Amino acid sequence: MKLLEYEAKSILSAGGIPVPKSYIADTQPDFLPAVLKSQVPVGGRGKAGGVVVVSSEDDYTSQLHRIRNLMIKGFLPKKVLAEEELDIDHEFYLSLVINKADVTTELIAHRQGGVEVEANAAEEFLKLILTADNADTVGQRLADHYELPDKTFALQDFIEKLYQLFNAEDMTLLEINPFVLTKNGSLVAGDAKMTVDDAAHFRHPDWLFEEEKAETNFVTLDHSGNIATIANGAGLAMATVDSVADAGLKPANFLDIGGGANEASVLAAFRRIMEYSDIRVIIINIFAGITRCDEVAKAIIAARSQLEDLPPLAVRLAGTNYEQAVKLLEKEGVIIHPSLEDAIDAAKESV
Ligand code: GDP
Ligand code: MN
Repeated sequence: MKLLEYEAKSILSAGGIPVPKSYIADTQPDFLPAVLKSQVPVGGRGKAGGVVVVSSEDDYTSQLHRIRNLMIKGFLPKKVLAEEELDIDHEFYLSLVINKADVTTELIAHRQGGVEVEANAAEEFLKLILTADNADTVGQRLADHYELPDKTFALQDFIEKLYQLFNAEDMTLLEINPFVLTKNGSLVAGDAKMTVDDAAHFRHPDWLFEEEKAETNFVTLDHSGNIATIANGAGLAMATVDSVADAGLKPANFLDIGGGANEASVLAAFRRIMEYSDIRVIIINIFAGITRCDEVAKAIIAARSQLEDLPPLAVRLAGTNYEQAVKLLEKEGVIIHPSLEDAIDAAKESV
């Protein structure tokens, strides 16, 4: 389950991590100036116009109205967060993530964070495995990497609290970007992306988040994967993921849309895929029995018109109402591949 920024920050704050003072924006501002931030479950809000500083009441009212109606990567916010404006000296990057292949918790850091973090060269990131045994030495390594020699103790304290929270809250991903050094020398979580493990829900009756529990069987395999998959039936979905991996590509997710999939549920699957940042192709592999190819085709058409920045699709459909799907998709110029192998070959070309 992916949390929104305000939900993630309330967990961080309860665990002793400094976050900006804030309120959920309503008719009247609690304080000004403030930074208004769209609460959508995707990154890149800053670049999309979803983060803006307001100083006057008029500004507040008009920008709040604008952000509430600003669609970002297919999402409209249910809430807008208003935060105290930080006086930023420098923006760093910091994240913790479960590495499923190695069963480790990995810390990833970069001296240069903020909205251009994707432009950083891969080899410049500090990556280290965080364990209960080494968590007390990481402050020094971070201080070296960030070139903040006088912040060793502050960083150590920050990491110990983060690591403790990460485990206690069953997180699989926590990204703080920007990790802000303010002009008066404090370290603050400027933004927070947090994913918690759905399978640990039973341990957390307090988990009441905006994102509805997914009806479909959707599992993140690799946040940095370059191929998203949509398939039906657990067996076919697994085979699809395996074939993608065998072809040397990196599957980001497993998704079985199930037998009763309709246009709305498939479109919801597309929206979840849009939350990943590195997807180059979405592979759709449907062998329709109860599911109908024309419903899937309609969802594909809706996704293409509604979701900005939708990655290229590699579609393989077969089964019930195949002919209708062909007619619908032909009009849109979407190719249907005869087999999964062909779809994967097409995906390889795009990557
Ligand atoms: P994202 O684009 O969805 O990752 O949203 P962020 O919350 O990371 O905000 C994007 C950028 O807006 C940050 O990297 C900052 O440069 C800027 N920003 C956000 N909050 C503040 C603030 O309080 N003060 C200043 N000066 N800049 C801010
Ligand atoms: Mn950010």
